[in-house]
Amino acid sequence: MSSIGKTSSTKNIAIIGGGINGVMSAWALAKRGHRVTLMERDTLMSHTSSASTKLLHGGLRYLENWEFRLVREALQERAWWLQQAPHLAHRLPLVLPLSPEGRAPLVLRAGLILYDLLAGQQGIGKHRKLSQQDAAQMLPQLRREHLQQGALLFFDGQMDDYALGLWAAERAMDAGVRMIERCRVNKIFANGSFESDLGADTVDAIVNIAGPWSQQLLQDSGLKGAHQLDLVRGSHLILNQSLNAGCFMQVPGERRIMFALPWKGQTLLGTTEQRQSLDEPTACSEKEQAYLLNNYAAYFANTPEVVSKFAGVRPLIRSAADPTKATREYAIETQGQIITVFGGKWTTSRQLGERVVEAVEHLT
Ligand SMILES: Cc1cc2nc3c(=O)[nH]c(=O)nc-3n(C[C@H](O)[C@H](O)[C@H](O)COP(=O)(O)OP(=O)(O)OC[C@H]3O[C@@H](n4cnc5c(N)ncnc54)[C@H](O)[C@@H]3O)c2cc1C
Repeated sequence: MSSIGKTSSTKNIAIIGGGINGVMSAWALAKRGHRVTLMERDTLMSHTSSASTKLLHGGLRYLENWEFRLVREALQERAWWLQQAPHLAHRLPLVLPLSPEGRAPLVLRAGLILYDLLAGQQGIGKHRKLSQQDAAQMLPQLRREHLQQGALLFFDGQMDDYALGLWAAERAMDAGVRMIERCRVNKIFANGSFESDLGADTVDAIVNIAGPWSQQLLQDSGLKGAHQLDLVRGSHLILNQSLNAGCFMQVPGERRIMFALPWKGQTLLGTTEQRQSLDEPTACSEKEQAYLLNNYAAYFANTPEVVSKFAGVRPLIRSAADPTKATREYAIETQGQIITVFGGKWTTSRQLGERVVEAVEHLT
């Protein structure tokens, strides 16, 4: 990348990482008039950003961790994605059975009232109570013992994460972002220099937004961030059955939540939370597959075939001994001309991009 002449307000920026957070940051920066080059080691959207549960959601369960700011932001962003790309994202009805083993119905009801309130004007449909009969009609495969107290119906968004990410990448390119795939950045320096597969260069700002690898890139460069990443694998199975609605499952005997979602005529079942290192392969283990199928069988009476499976690694900010309780917030750190992003959910990637713009524009 040649260092291009700049005005006082226009910066040359190198973005490292072509997942959704890198792409949305690149797009936001280009819209502000900056000259942006994004470098991706593999291909765009080839890692975490295409291995998600494919929900554009506030994250109902994060309310238990008091993450009200994040949930509110994510609910606003959910509406934005649904409006911007209706061909790749849609409203998804979700049935939450009032299972005798799960949280008290009053607690769940209170959570959904708050969820609707936090969505405010950007809501996509208020939750309501379903009778046992109505819930069984929506999800006939559900075991009736989970519906003794009926169910709650609420709404979130569902997307094709890979296609939607590429859609965003195209918008970013239209805004002037230069995307370079199969280009690894090996070292970054606080003065704005970096070394990549294409050689050495210097820019006004480096945005290290390499998802699960952002901390490693700092380490490889002899730098240390104030935050640390907790790398938590999540696996999914695709089952050969169709569903009319999604199911929000409270894992028996745990505080965890799992989803069975309609997905392209089949069922997407997930997910797990398994700590791993970057050296381990990102793949669904036999143990995870058994765990997912066991919990499916606890809720559903049929036994569909497993068609395929996939896994991704969440780049969470290290904040709790139990990864289920780890914050889903993101953090942005500045070291000289380097801005490093830790964490960040798919749904909130546009807002994260706006925060990256602020951080870049604060650089001298
Ligand atoms: C199982 C699971 C389920 C999830 N479900 C949801 C959900 O339903 N809804 C939601 O909102 N969020 C969800 N998330 C969270 C969300 O998917 C991630 O937080 C988000 O995709 C992270 O995006 P990213 O751009 O930060 O990382 P990534 O998508 O991993 O992108 C980082 C990129 O950086 C590249 N890279 C790394 N090192 C270098 C280097 N040195 N040089 C150049 N490139 C490099 C990598 O190749 C990679 O493509 C889920 C995550 C997981 C794992």
